[in-house]
Amino acid sequence: MGKTGYFTHRDFWKHEMGQGHPECPERLDAIEDRLLVSGVGDALTRCDVPLAALPDILRAHTVEHVEHLEALTQRLVADVPAGGPDHAQLDPDTSLNRFTVLAARRAAGAAIAATDAVMSGELENAFCAVRPPGHHACRDQAMGFCFLNNIAIAARHALEAHGLDRVAVVDFDVHHGNGTEDILANDPRVLMVGIFQHPFYPYSGTEAPASNMLNLPVPAYTKGMDVRELIEMMWIPRLEAFKPQMIFISAGFDAHRDDDLGQLALTENDFSWITDRVRNIARRHAKGRIVSMLEGGYNLGALARSVEAHVRVLADL
Ligand SMILES: [Zn+2]
Repeated sequence: MGKTGYFTHRDFWKHEMGQGHPECPERLDAIEDRLLVSGVGDALTRCDVPLAALPDILRAHTVEHVEHLEALTQRLVADVPAGGPDHAQLDPDTSLNRFTVLAARRAAGAAIAATDAVMSGELENAFCAVRPPGHHACRDQAMGFCFLNNIAIAARHALEAHGLDRVAVVDFDVHHGNGTEDILANDPRVLMVGIFQHPFYPYSGTEAPASNMLNLPVPAYTKGMDVRELIEMMWIPRLEAFKPQMIFISAGFDAHRDDDLGQLALTENDFSWITDRVRNIARRHAKGRIVSMLEGGYNLGALARSVEAHVRVLADL
C-alpha cells in the first residue's frame, strides 16, 4: 500500500536546554542512526519541512503566547553576543535558547506539511522526528519541554484547512498530554484517547475530563500486556464508533521499561502492537491517514529501537 513520509530538519538540533538535559539533540541522532543501520530509513520518503505560518499556530495558541516566546527570543539574540545568559528559563525543566522558537515553528511546520501530504494522497502516513515536542504546550503556556503543540496544530489544520469533520488524537506518551487536552477539550470534531502513568507529571487528566477525552491513567510499573488489554477494551471501541477521517499520534516512547523518566514497562513490541491497532482503524475509516509526531523518549537506545518498531508498522515493513 501507500508510502510513509519521514519529516525531520537540522533546525531541530539547534534547540537545547542545557548540559545534561534529557530532551537533547542526541535523541534525534539516535533515531537517525537506527533508521540508517536497520535499513528502515531506505523505505521512507524524506520530505521537506517548512516553518509553520502564524495563522496555523493560532488555531491552537493565543497571540499573547506566540508574542511572549518571540520577545524572549529577541532578548536572547540581543543579550547573548553581549555576554548575557544564553537561556531563558520558563519552568524548572523548560528553557529557550536563541533557536528554540525557530525549531518549534519548524516542528509545527512538519506537522502541517505531513498532514497536507497525507491528505493529498502523496503519502499514506508519516512520522515526524521533531524537537521540541508539543503535547504539554497549552493554549497560552509553554511547559514540560514543550512550546508549541504540534499535534493540536495539525489536528486543527486537518479540520479547518482540509475540511475534515472528525479527527482522532492518540497519545501513548508516559505523561498525560495536558496541553493537547487544554486546546482540544470540548471540540466535538475531535476524539482524543490517551494512556499515561498516574499519579505523575503533569498531575492532570483524571478530574472529569471533557466528553471528547478518553483518558486511561495507569499506575507505575504497569506492564505492556495490561496496557494492551486496556487499549483493546477502551480505546478501540470508541475509535471505531467515532470513525475518524484521520488519526494523529502523539508518539512518546518514555513509557518504555528502560526509560528512567517514567516507570511503565512497555517494550518495542508493545509500541508495534499499539501502532498496528491504530493503523487498522485508520485503514478502515480514514484511508490509512496517520500523522505521527515524536513526543518523549529519553533512553537513547530504547527510543531508537521503539521508533524503528513504530515506523516499521507504519511502513508495512
Ligand atoms: Zn513524556
